[in-house]
Amino acid sequence: MENKKSLFDKSQRELEEFCVLSGFKRYNARQIMRWVYFYQTFDFAKMTDIPKFLRDELMNNFHTGLPAILATTYEEDIKGYSKKYLIGLKDNKTIESVLINYNDGRKTLCISSQTGCKMGCAFCETAGLGGGRNLSSGEILSQILLISADIKEAGLGPAPVHSGRAHGSAEPASKITNVVFMGMGEPLDNMVEVEKSLNIMSDNNFLAIAPRKITISTCGLLDKLKNIEKFKYKIAISLNASDDITRNELMPVNKKFPLEDIVNLINRKKPSIHNKITLEYVLIKGVNDGILNAKELIKMFSPSKVKFNLIPLNKGKNSIFLKNFERPDNDAVNNFKLKLLKAGFTVTTRFSKARSINGGCGQLTAKTICSR
Ligand code: SF4
Repeated sequence: MENKKSLFDKSQRELEEFCVLSGFKRYNARQIMRWVYFYQTFDFAKMTDIPKFLRDELMNNFHTGLPAILATTYEEDIKGYSKKYLIGLKDNKTIESVLINYNDGRKTLCISSQTGCKMGCAFCETAGLGGGRNLSSGEILSQILLISADIKEAGLGPAPVHSGRAHGSAEPASKITNVVFMGMGEPLDNMVEVEKSLNIMSDNNFLAIAPRKITISTCGLLDKLKNIEKFKYKIAISLNASDDITRNELMPVNKKFPLEDIVNLINRKKPSIHNKITLEYVLIKGVNDGILNAKELIKMFSPSKVKFNLIPLNKGKNSIFLKNFERPDNDAVNNFKLKLLKAGFTVTTRFSKARSINGGCGQLTAKTICSR
């Protein structure tokens, strides 16, 4: 495996080039990728509709090994369960992913795009790790493949669909229904690899996760959202303040892309009931949770273009934030929410699942030490 490259790092175009250079057809690449992602069959020998010589070439050049799950932690409540995975990469770096399994069948996977984060948000524990490296597209996709297999092993998804037949089922083997890029790292800071992974994730022939079920959450790297009107995935912008002074303190990115730029960007986008931009707002006691803050947000944004996701600060047992922040009490959270609701906004409050296992928003640090 040492000298071989991971097949999961190859885009469709790159694999097509490999097939053509090996004397085969472009369409063979799609067949191979359908085996790998749709059926999640990783053994080249089992890809029975691929010519034998091409299978040999694949075996000589690529491996389909996945990173290792080093540890997991688990939490259950009446709505379902959350499971946090500590995943070891080939260079011994670690990342975390969190599965939120709802009793209604939704299986949302929160995935990482970097091994740390250089954005330095003051309320985020990942920021404490500093800038890590970018994950490759294969490492991003591997989180879905690994955890999908874990769900299957636990018998929590529908019955396995592939049985060694090339086109035996119209159902993808993936057990994941929704993906959110809200794990470790800033996805738009790793745009090339994230885009590569998105193309495979959302292709009906591969992982078959509909674009409207994929959310990219950004701290606000607005230069990467220039074509926002054409974006087919859901976008969430981490806002967290109603004025620039507070946002500068919470999120250094605001010095480059201040609130006014966010407002202008959002106003450029046509209103869409089905694809409003989500504004994430981590509520921090005494910092940004006052009624005045809510009033400022109401003046700035239109209910036809955005919805709010309020996240009372997650403070784990061993939280080390860059500043000494506290979670607001429930009354403050409810009053803030009510103010926005009365102004016509759609508002959800995420009392993060997975909080007790430090798998809530802004809590991923890849430090979990807990046996499976
Ligand atoms: S909130 Fe997101 S962008 Fe900010 S430091 Fe944490 S991981 Fe990075």
